[in-house]
Amino acid sequence: MPATRRNNRADALAKQVAPPAWGPAEIRALADRIRAGADPAPWDLLVVGAGITGAGIARDAAMRGLRVLVVDGRDLAFGTSSRSSRLIHGGVRYLEQGEIGLVYEALRERRRLYKIAGHLVAPVQFLFPAYRGDRLPLWKLRVGLTLYDALSLYRSRGHRTLGPAATRRLEPLLVAEGLRGAVSYEDAVTDDARLTLTTLQSARRHGAEVLTYSPVVALRREGPLHVAELADGARVQARAVFVAAGPWTSEKLLGAAGRQLLSLSRGIHVVLKAADLPLRQPVVVQAAKERRILFVVPWGARTYLGTTDTAYEGDPGASGVTTADADELFRMIGRILPSQGLRHDRIVSAWSGVRPLVRAASAASGDSTVELSRSHRIVETDTGVFALVGGKLTTYRAMAEEAVDKVEAAIGRDLPRCSTHRLPLVPGRPLTTAELGMPHMGELAGRHGPFARELAARIAREPALGERLIADLPYLWAEVDHAIAAEGCVHLEDILRRRLPLALTDGELGIHVARPIAERLVAAWGRPASAVDEEIERYRELMHRETGRSLGRC
Ligand SMILES: Cc1cc2nc3c(=O)[nH]c(=O)nc-3n(C[C@H](O)[C@H](O)[C@H](O)COP(=O)(O)OP(=O)(O)OC[C@H]3O[C@@H](n4cnc5c(N)ncnc54)[C@H](O)[C@@H]3O)c2cc1C
Repeated sequence: MPATRRNNRADALAKQVAPPAWGPAEIRALADRIRAGADPAPWDLLVVGAGITGAGIARDAAMRGLRVLVVDGRDLAFGTSSRSSRLIHGGVRYLEQGEIGLVYEALRERRRLYKIAGHLVAPVQFLFPAYRGDRLPLWKLRVGLTLYDALSLYRSRGHRTLGPAATRRLEPLLVAEGLRGAVSYEDAVTDDARLTLTTLQSARRHGAEVLTYSPVVALRREGPLHVAELADGARVQARAVFVAAGPWTSEKLLGAAGRQLLSLSRGIHVVLKAADLPLRQPVVVQAAKERRILFVVPWGARTYLGTTDTAYEGDPGASGVTTADADELFRMIGRILPSQGLRHDRIVSAWSGVRPLVRAASAASGDSTVELSRSHRIVETDTGVFALVGGKLTTYRAMAEEAVDKVEAAIGRDLPRCSTHRLPLVPGRPLTTAELGMPHMGELAGRHGPFARELAARIAREPALGERLIADLPYLWAEVDHAIAAEGCVHLEDILRRRLPLALTDGELGIHVARPIAERLVAAWGRPASAVDEEIERYRELMHRETGRSLGRC
């Protein structure tokens, strides 16, 4: 198909509002087709890993007309992409490290995400205070944020410098003693797992297929094609392969090219009730000794704090939050935001993620990971498999564009130019102010964009679906049904941990609603009733590993 016709097709597809169905029937049909080898034509591109990196590559490639399959060993966004600080930011910290190029790119991508994913990437004013004796005094913050504004090409609300009194008027919880003032500047907050899901849904809209819970155990070259072997023995043939396995990218998948490629670093977050740390806006906290900052972010009825940065070895899927981690956060943040709420018995939930950082040439095991660059790298193995490592949630779209340009050269096809910066992830007319004032719409719009209209219409037909799952959290039963029918859920954990962040926001980690949700899921899959208990047990174990908490009965 000529490039312009493919571009027109991409534009037309982007106008269809409802996401293509992605429920048990679709998931089973794809798995059966692949396992039966009933799809003899090779895929143009196989993407290994359905985190934000793989999702971005799949969307870009599918929009350029390639036949794409994404395979993940677990659920989509199971890895780092559901365990970040949830910021879409230029990264003020990287200015101190001289990474001007990275900040420029991240600010450009932030702008593009406002445009293509406006419902998920919301600008917020951050407050960055400076105290007497801080590593970064107020004048340095002012210089840094002036540069930040310039690097954003002055397209965002510029920073403001505030004296101590004005700072405390904005944020009365800040300690007055030693406060020199603050800068207030714009960055954005998102839902990382939902951004990944929505990017994959957009890829599916453009013809990509996504197979979860199917680990790739080996990659081989057979003549002109690559062959991936899945854990159950199924084989997938593709003209090109991109490994986007985040912290799992290793020698096992890439051979020699995967050796010593990454330094892993663990970062944790802790969630409190908003009443225990009632901030009015996100606050940036300076670490006393390292060149590191922490964030305290209001999140509806909750506030979350993060993060740590410690070298990590072992299975990235098994990282969890320890008491010492939470102590470190409480100590560093409590220095300027003292609160009775900074206590272990007040923790609502917590999460732990592993950064896949590009290893420095001189890195030795145990070295600090704080100073390692957050830039990405694309490597190619001697059999022609590509891998993308490092990078940021914020820059995923640009990384994907670069990745698909490599694929174009590798498969020797003339593809249309990248259009991922132009077309929204969720098509449809933006919601009007009047619509946003209608029942449930405001809440749903922040997660589903224009598709909130359909969900609200469904609730109007069946009012019980408009009930909240948990009284003080905004998630609705309609979203559970939608997740099962159209968001690629296989297990209970997919719904409670990544489609709706109950595992991160509810004091009981969603266990009180786990049974009715598992019953809906199991019924939709046509599995035996005994599967309900299996799903609950599986969820219990997973959450125990990540948060260190034992879940109650349900
Ligand atoms: C604590 C922390 C805070 C962060 N905060 C921010 C932030 O605020 N803003 C920002 O921009 N960035 C942030 N980042 C960075 C960002 O989260 C990561 O760069 C990004 O999520 C990495 O995504 P990924 O897709 O490369 O990896 P992942 O999300 O880990 O995805 C890899 C996927 O590959 C799958 N996989 C692994 N092996 C196989 C296999 N053999 N077969 C099939 N599938 C496989 C996994 O199941 C997983 O789903 C943060 C990172 C951390 C850890």
